[in-house]
Amino acid sequence: MAEAMRSPIESGCPDAFQYMHPVMRKNYGQWAYHEDPQPGVLLHVSKNGDKIWTVRAGTQRILDLFTLRKLCDIGDKYGEGYIHFTIRSNIEYQVADEAKVEPLIKALTDAGFIVGGTRNSVAMLSHTQGWLHCDIPGTDASGVVKSMMDELIDEFKGWNMPNRVHMTTSCCQINCGGQGDIAINVQHTKPPKINHDLVSNVCERPSVVARCPVAAIRPALVNGKPSLEVDEKKCICCGACFPPCPPMQINDAEHSKLAIWVGGNHSNARGKPTFQKLVASGIPNNPPRWPEATAVVKKILKTYKEDAKDWERINDWIERIGWPRFFEKTGLPFTKYHIDNWRGARASLNASTHIRF
Ligand code: SF4
Ligand code: SF4
Repeated sequence: MAEAMRSPIESGCPDAFQYMHPVMRKNYGQWAYHEDPQPGVLLHVSKNGDKIWTVRAGTQRILDLFTLRKLCDIGDKYGEGYIHFTIRSNIEYQVADEAKVEPLIKALTDAGFIVGGTRNSVAMLSHTQGWLHCDIPGTDASGVVKSMMDELIDEFKGWNMPNRVHMTTSCCQINCGGQGDIAINVQHTKPPKINHDLVSNVCERPSVVARCPVAAIRPALVNGKPSLEVDEKKCICCGACFPPCPPMQINDAEHSKLAIWVGGNHSNARGKPTFQKLVASGIPNNPPRWPEATAVVKKILKTYKEDAKDWERINDWIERIGWPRFFEKTGLPFTKYHIDNWRGARASLNASTHIRF
């Protein structure tokens, strides 16, 4: 099938059509409507009357081989041999026979997986690669996901929320992790500490200097050796210098915290896309269960659930009640650190590719 449609190329994603359930492939772009028969199950109906059911279960982002084999065995035995993963790490099985839906749900549940994550639920918290194959993590994102989802399991399984809730985590402060109604991100609070003995052996100093968004890093000679120095008044503690120069250690058990951002929305569906805003900062980065961060997230979700109107996403709800009321209702403290009007950004942000000294 794939060969008929497109010849293989050496890089990029493989053609997804070859992995699709035949009913889905046949009706691609021809769906008349879809329904949500029960939590964790979608029904798509084609214009020609074809139907396909999707059963969704939560899985971890980084799957071990044994779990993956178990999930595939369930798909072969109780499904029709077709799966795919959503962007939020949920596995989805497609079946064209309605009679297979309940046995499939039972097999997944018996094997310890949780079926849900559709419609107005809290979908699986999405997270980033972290220590597995990224160079700048400041924390373990998958641990945060596990701890929080353990406490939000009923919100994943049920349709209890005013609308769907997408949450994200990140393991650094600057890159992934901003795609959600609620985001739990790392927050460094101190400039990096430089190990001058190592800089000259390990770092590409021009890259490090160029990497700083506020031009706070300068080359310097320390004890006769080439090294770097940081203008701590300028440093915004973003952590961008740490990947090209590991001796500029910024991660710190005490001073690297978590921050929670709320109200992001990529969609153009009912309103304009919105940026997230900081609502809680300086939360202890406290493994292995991160109770303080989970408590803040649960507080926000509880207030949203009680106060929002049906179908309001978190950003719609805050837009209606206003940010002052958001802080009043959730009981989160509003501090001066929540205000940033970017005054001065034109002068301080490094918006060019030139290296500045
Ligand atoms: S959040 Fe940061 S550290 Fe984590 S995977 Fe993304 S870029 Fe890497
Ligand atoms: S890259 Fe970020 S953390 Fe490093 S010195 Fe510049 S502002 Fe500070």
